[in-house]
Amino acid sequence: MIGIVVVSHSRALAQAAVGLATEMVQHGDLPHMVVAAGLDETTFGTDATAIAEAIGEADSEDGVLVLLDLGSAILSAEMALEFIDPDVAQRVELSSAAMIEGLVAAVVTASSGAGLSLVKAEAERGLQAKREHLGDASGPPSADSADQGSLARDALTRQVPIDIPHGLHARPAARFVACVNRFARTQVRLRNLDGADREADASSLSAVASLGVRQGDRVEIAAEGDHAEEVLEALVALAAANFGDSATDATPTPTTAGHASPIRVEGAQDRRVPAMGSGLEAALGVVLRVDEAVDAADYEGSGDLSTEKDRLGGAIAAAITELEEIASTTKDHVGSAEAEVFGAHVALLQDPAVTDPALKEIAEGVPAALAWQRVGEAVAADFARLSDEYQSERAQDVRSVTDRVLRQLIHGGQADPPEEVEGGQRILVVHELDPGTAARVDPGHIAGIVTIGGGSTGHGVLIAAARGIPVLPGVRQADQFSDGTVVAFDVRDRSVIVDPSDQERARFQRLLDDRATQQDLDRAAATMPGQTKDGLVVTVKANVTSQSEAAEAVQLGAEGSGLVRTEVMFDGWSTVPTVDEQVTEFTAVAEALDGRVMTIRTWDIGADKPLGFWAQDPEQNPFLGVRGLRSFTQDPKLLRDQLEAVCRVAHEYPVRVMFPMVATVQEVQWALEQLAHAGKRLGAGVPASLEVGIMIEVPAAALRAEAMSVLLDFVSIGTNDLTQYTMAAERGNTGVEHLFDPLDPSVLALIAQVCRDVAEGVSVSVCGGAASDPAAAALLVGLGVDDLSATPVAVPRVKALLRRHTLEQLQDLARRALRCDSAAEVRGLLAGLD
Ligand code: PEP
Ligand code: MG
Repeated sequence: MIGIVVVSHSRALAQAAVGLATEMVQHGDLPHMVVAAGLDETTFGTDATAIAEAIGEADSEDGVLVLLDLGSAILSAEMALEFIDPDVAQRVELSSAAMIEGLVAAVVTASSGAGLSLVKAEAERGLQAKREHLGDASGPPSADSADQGSLARDALTRQVPIDIPHGLHARPAARFVACVNRFARTQVRLRNLDGADREADASSLSAVASLGVRQGDRVEIAAEGDHAEEVLEALVALAAANFGDSATDATPTPTTAGHASPIRVEGAQDRRVPAMGSGLEAALGVVLRVDEAVDAADYEGSGDLSTEKDRLGGAIAAAITELEEIASTTKDHVGSAEAEVFGAHVALLQDPAVTDPALKEIAEGVPAALAWQRVGEAVAADFARLSDEYQSERAQDVRSVTDRVLRQLIHGGQADPPEEVEGGQRILVVHELDPGTAARVDPGHIAGIVTIGGGSTGHGVLIAAARGIPVLPGVRQADQFSDGTVVAFDVRDRSVIVDPSDQERARFQRLLDDRATQQDLDRAAATMPGQTKDGLVVTVKANVTSQSEAAEAVQLGAEGSGLVRTEVMFDGWSTVPTVDEQVTEFTAVAEALDGRVMTIRTWDIGADKPLGFWAQDPEQNPFLGVRGLRSFTQDPKLLRDQLEAVCRVAHEYPVRVMFPMVATVQEVQWALEQLAHAGKRLGAGVPASLEVGIMIEVPAAALRAEAMSVLLDFVSIGTNDLTQYTMAAERGNTGVEHLFDPLDPSVLALIAQVCRDVAEGVSVSVCGGAASDPAAAALLVGLGVDDLSATPVAVPRVKALLRRHTLEQLQDLARRALRCDSAAEVRGLLAGLD
């Protein structure tokens, strides 16, 4: 079957056109349709590289028809033909048809298995029905006038009344034609017995639609050939079923299992995409609803105050044991940072501010479960009221902990993780993703998770993502997905399809297979250097926070660690770690890195990174307040202890140290003094091998890179904070997330300036999120960045992408990116980089 590519300036328009055309074919196969439209979800434009890729994707050797909208769409499509293999190009046709009408006609015709030239001709006649209806004779000759055919006198015929609101308008006409075209070697003609009493070739959508059949008209269908009888039967049945239109022509809603056509969930795209690694980030499976709700009303109280208190105490103790077990397996199999989530849950259960009010309620005669539920709800509501999105999402953790204890009180244990069920892979649909569930589901049978509520920074979402399970958070419409419905979703563009057609499933399966193959290839080559085609070697390291993560990073080809977030490593500690304790933890990571360099970042405290053992005064605007290095200027003890631990480890292993949130040259000098002080205190001094650097996260530091770097061995750009401060857009605030993009040309300009200005011999790294986005990482190299530090799972893909380009290509890309007007335009440039 031929493939179809839709080229438009607007992605929304092209996707809607494909949706409309898809609706026209109820049965049989849809052609493979690929959209190459817009520079991103919302920016208008066309891109020759994206069109070339779309053609490649749509091509199955039967040819590809390209439908276009206007202006540069045509130029870009012509250019795309020059990019692709000439053998493929010669079976591609650009259509002059009107995009919508042409696409509908093309899809209907192609679904019958018609060849490229017939599909193209039908597409180009697509406007005919509209022209005739509106009495516009100036168009090309009608299908009718071109159609001289007639059937033998003894052809079989049937008469049917047409009783649908708008007569044989586009959708029923398309379904009529699609039905005709299912039968080979059979000719069918349609006559409108009322109206103008004309007849037409029933295999042509334009011809059928231009017959002007209205509600109340009678039509005669005549057929001859191998399947004359069957086709007539099928057409009569189709008419009896009102051509698949409901009486009200209602728009479908995403609720139905067994719906005939795929439903795209609109609006799911409006939300933030969660942090992605280089996993499959897409899933296809059967919905499994897990109703985790647990209600205090199901609890049978004893009526005795001291029994109720004991029961609550016992339930809390049992919940803590469960959490400790989950934390230990999570630490071994996922990472320390993820395991700490459960440490924080334990801390909540041990917090008198939570347990005392519950005990007080029990003392007043309230049954244990109800008392616990009330207190849990109140604490969660306090979190939910916080204006910072990340902080307010912690309410999920409180609800999770509340439910865990309630389950103990009511059922005597935690809910079992969803089990393997027959019928293939499942898509778990939950209201909120509880971290415990995220840590325990088996990726062997849970292909992906959709959450109805909750944002992208919930701990459950982060844990599932770290385990490589695709998660799409915050899809409100998923509340209507019922058990057993097939769902496909792609995290990269937040698209969700409910009840996909066979064609859509096949397309999704191909996408999953392609991503899996790509991942396998990247991982197989992970230990090869990230070297551009013309020989520039870019060191690709990983951001890690624990020994297990470091070991995983090494397996994935990381050439050391470019960022050890120490505040994450010790998150959950309620007492200040001693120098010895820090040495133990750092040594464990250094051992796992097995001779590769480890970059320890000193405590980056404040704003979104509170530390349990470090009290901070409340601030009006914490992101602009006492953060990172600034936290220690009044009292440097904690920093000096850490620097002493760093020096001790650096005497044994290859270590770099860097200071976060630096804004002035004086701060750099002060930090170096603290290091010298720590070295002196140690006695052995600061080892000569210890490289010293700073994070560049504040525009002021980027602008003074030269003056700062003369004092240093390296700088490392933190694109997360650099973007936040350059764009004045808080990193966790969904209200300004459209501004928070490290690919904004202003952020790129600062990065380019740092690369240009640093002193001779000082290397420039990037350890912010941009380094984990493979295409963005390649762009960073083009801007002049020397090495990268990404999330461990992203390392193989980042390296693979670098190996596919020359430095010159990446530099050219960087020059063009710096001239762009928006992050969206930059992303458009990167779209063809894979
Ligand atoms: C950054 O700001 O880019 C960075 C790497 O630091 P963090 O995300 O830990 O603030
Ligand atoms: Mg930062």
